[in-house]
Amino acid sequence: MSAAALSPASDSPSAGALRSAVVVGAGLAGLTAAVELAERDVRVTVLEARERVGGRARGIEVAPGRWVDAGAAYLGDRHTELHALLAACDLKTAPTEMAGAARFALGSPEAPAATVEGRFPPLNAVALGDLFEQLEELAAAVRPEAPWLTPDAERLDALTAADWAQQQLPHPDARLFFPLFLGEMMAADPAKVSVLHMAFYLRSGGGLRYLNAFAGGAQQDRVAGGAHRLCERLARRLLAAGGVLRTAEPVLSVEQSDGEVTVRTPEGSYRAQAAVVAVPPLLADAIEYRPGLPVRRAGARTGRGCAVKLHLVFPEPVWRAHGLSGWSVNAAGPLLSTVDDTPPEGSPGVLTGFVTGAEAHRFAALPPAEQRAAAVAQARRLFPVLPEPVGFHVTDWVNEPWSRGCYAALFGPGDWSALGPALTAPHGRVRFAGTETSTEFFGLLEGAVRSGRRAAAELLDL
Ligand SMILES: Cc1cc2nc3c(=O)[nH]c(=O)nc-3n(C[C@H](O)[C@H](O)[C@H](O)COP(=O)(O)OP(=O)(O)OC[C@H]3O[C@@H](n4cnc5c(N)ncnc54)[C@H](O)[C@@H]3O)c2cc1C
Repeated sequence: MSAAALSPASDSPSAGALRSAVVVGAGLAGLTAAVELAERDVRVTVLEARERVGGRARGIEVAPGRWVDAGAAYLGDRHTELHALLAACDLKTAPTEMAGAARFALGSPEAPAATVEGRFPPLNAVALGDLFEQLEELAAAVRPEAPWLTPDAERLDALTAADWAQQQLPHPDARLFFPLFLGEMMAADPAKVSVLHMAFYLRSGGGLRYLNAFAGGAQQDRVAGGAHRLCERLARRLLAAGGVLRTAEPVLSVEQSDGEVTVRTPEGSYRAQAAVVAVPPLLADAIEYRPGLPVRRAGARTGRGCAVKLHLVFPEPVWRAHGLSGWSVNAAGPLLSTVDDTPPEGSPGVLTGFVTGAEAHRFAALPPAEQRAAAVAQARRLFPVLPEPVGFHVTDWVNEPWSRGCYAALFGPGDWSALGPALTAPHGRVRFAGTETSTEFFGLLEGAVRSGRRAAAELLDL
């Protein structure tokens, strides 16, 4: 046990205002909560399992001083708390580059890709229109603040999105497009999420059109320099306010007795008047609580969002000169979609590929050389102008031990009914944060910020 790990709780819990807190997890939610508390004179210790802060926000330096997002990337105008936090941390946003035509490879793997102006897939428009209408109706009917109270919740929570598609989508084009859409929107395999969760996710994020849109939508902008910057700035603010940040210290247990909380890691024990656990549900559930939680943080069918993010780096974004946006959607993997992620400075050219849903598991299991060969070959079929990449990066979020999937946890059948009512319930002097505890913008950076602020406010009210 290190000396710094000995942090005696000198403050009596009956002393009135909160004076000490431990925060578990230095992702955006945990750091938001930690800074809110530390800047109000609470002595805060943040315990983070990884050697870095940021969690699902992580940057990759693709050229000296040029960063791209290996994790979270996009934000829109409705992400008001995120925008406020970025401004407070003196960070700017940059618009997502989307000028030019899209590519769609929705036929057999050998068939050439189609070049299309705009982003509507070259499939049966009526069938896709019906699909989107049905999804919008489902989302509109959800009670976003309490999905388990949605009319017909029991049935919707028992049904997987794959079952729903089987029943509701007679047209083959809608059946083809639906899993691609869900993969891109939620990194979800339709067989693994309940219809209630799918509908809730769409509603919570501002609706299908908003979530899916670049200009005017949830993917309008990126954080200049990378979303991880925000977490780094927050960590700096925490330290400046006298807080302590301890990385490479996974929390094993959270114990409460005599009005104080003791949080244990392999390095030592930390005592405080209260704690915030700000980690994804599957990881929050792996922590031991004493006394035990009345309702677990995850169920047997709570799944990992499945996405592997790839970055192919070229000297220039050559596709732009050929009138292409770099955006593509593909029926066959590994790259089920691609997007232009070139830094705002204009170089190097970065094409980001998303491997999502069931395909993510298959791809993640391949040896690195095979991953590269498959991704580069497909990218060059989609964009025949591409030279050999000068850089290639794979970020496998499915198997990241301290994320266990992304973009967010997937609530499977029964999860909302069983877990939902307890998602934000206090457990003695412990509060829960993390994007999956936010019914507004669940799964997104905005949800993480809102959850962190809520948890901090709750502790300050203790
Ligand atoms: C590939 C990808 C793309 C995404 N795209 C977008 C996007 O475009 N826009 C958007 O808004 N969102 C996006 N997201 C989602 C976004 O990243 C998350 O919603 C957000 O970062 C979650 O923050 P959080 O603090 O709730 O959780 P996390 O970032 O997961 O933070 C939790 C932290 O807790 C730590 N931890 C876990 N267990 C323990 C333990 N036992 N002890 C101590 N520490 C622990 C973890 O290491 C981590 O640092 C994306 C995510 C990914 C991965």
